[in-house]
Amino acid sequence: MVAEVTGGAAAKAAPAIELRGISKAFGPVQANKDINIKVNKGTIHGIIGENGAGKSTMMSILYGFYKADSGEILIDGKPTQITDSQAAISAGIGMVFQHFKLVENFTVLENVILGAEDSERLMPSLNRARKLLTELAAEYELNVDPDALIETLSVGHQQRVEILKALYREANILILDEPTGVLTPAEADHLFRILRGLKEQGKTIILITHKLREIMDVTDEVSVMRRGEMVATVNTAETSPTELAELMVGRKVLLEVEKTPAKPGEVVLSARGLKVVDEFGVERLRSIDLDIRAGEILGVAGVAGNGQSALLEALAGMAAATGEVKMNGEPLDLTLKHSDAGTRRERGVSHVHEDRHRCGLILDFMAWENIAFGYHNAPEYNKNKLLMDNHAILEDAKGKFERFDVRPPNPMLTAESFSGGNQQKIVLAREIERNPDLLLVGQPTRGVDIGAIEFIHKQLIALRDQGKAILLVSVELDEILSLSDRIVVMFDGRIMGERDPETTNAQDLGLMMAGMTGDVA
Ligand code: ADP
Ligand code: MG
Repeated sequence: MVAEVTGGAAAKAAPAIELRGISKAFGPVQANKDINIKVNKGTIHGIIGENGAGKSTMMSILYGFYKADSGEILIDGKPTQITDSQAAISAGIGMVFQHFKLVENFTVLENVILGAEDSERLMPSLNRARKLLTELAAEYELNVDPDALIETLSVGHQQRVEILKALYREANILILDEPTGVLTPAEADHLFRILRGLKEQGKTIILITHKLREIMDVTDEVSVMRRGEMVATVNTAETSPTELAELMVGRKVLLEVEKTPAKPGEVVLSARGLKVVDEFGVERLRSIDLDIRAGEILGVAGVAGNGQSALLEALAGMAAATGEVKMNGEPLDLTLKHSDAGTRRERGVSHVHEDRHRCGLILDFMAWENIAFGYHNAPEYNKNKLLMDNHAILEDAKGKFERFDVRPPNPMLTAESFSGGNQQKIVLAREIERNPDLLLVGQPTRGVDIGAIEFIHKQLIALRDQGKAILLVSVELDEILSLSDRIVVMFDGRIMGERDPETTNAQDLGLMMAGMTGDVA
């Protein structure tokens, strides 16, 4: 329900949205602290901040998912109570969700009118709805077929359906929370064109992203959040990625990765015709050939879900595969029975799993126990042969925590009590200090704050410079471009081509990521 508390004449220049003194706590966590922000009408307003800064909480309050502990919301200058999402919709606010909010086996048209059909204001027949949808799609260049089933659409198109859904509900203010995580660069560009078009039509857009480049490209103003507080709002034209990064973490950060050219040596791992078929009989990896040399980082780019996980798990001994893989010239047994992850470790393969919660850590075990996870048979942990030497593991953990700057430096805490970045440092310390010949690493900085990203990148470069081979899988193109010595792009279980990071760019890689071009047919 929208209750207009006062009828004070809104000045023409009133912001589309104003939050005054919004606070929200979850138990001991102060997720939002006295937030003040004005979002001007007809602008694209970026919100950035590290993981856990409170961005999604603020947007959820604005959309009526959470109730603020204190503070007020003004829409067009009028104090407005947003008690639930229906109230948000009535106030003209639309939230663009990721595809999972759509009903897969319904058509675009059905999804768009779903939930809106009972609203009196929007009681059109299906034909009227179709006409309106077609008009909206044309007006905002959101071309999607109203009769297509959602499950047949690409993620980019599904996102357009979410936008249409909001527009159909007459939203004037659109909120997008990390919308490009699932898109190729070309799809992201298209989204930004749509957003600019919407802005020209007078819509107001709030774009939450952790990607500084997107902020610089598309926003008019940007607000920075840090630890629940709003620390600054600046004009995008008057700021820089460096300044924004500093505001986000509260200190200077190095955005560029510093590295010298690679000195690739012998082939450490070679794969020929590597295939993975999953439990449903679907080919996840369709005959991959690749070589990884000592002293180089081979980057694997691609939109999530194109076989990268199967590649990592096949090489790490976590998924059965066929084909031929040699490690230091000696064949690996690719059946799972004989060659589990432990055997791979003995052969010099370490693995930083892309899902550190599911596979990298046991969250309710203590950090020092996690340090030995997978390496409990290591001689230094088993000096007395009968029992594991917990003291030795704890001492080792303390050293690793110091060298990897894990905060707080207390291995007696459960893994769960560390932030994402520090959890990732624990996993990296464990895997890197095994001195592997090959490090497989998936999404090393996903959900990791900027300061820790910098540290993790340095560790990977240092490992490369010690002559180790690294296979880096990441959906962050910037990360792939800045760390890799060679880049391959995966699409639909295949390698589409290889590029030199010095001569390629996001667009070139993006075409291969979308399966549009490549070196192979
Ligand atoms: P962001 O979107 O900037 O990453 P969030 O708004 O999701 O940040 O989270 C801010 C803080 O609030 C984090 O510490 C997070 O763990 C906490 N938090 C968010 N939602 C909840 C919830 N429903 N219950 C408990 N804590 C939460
Ligand atoms: Mg969030």
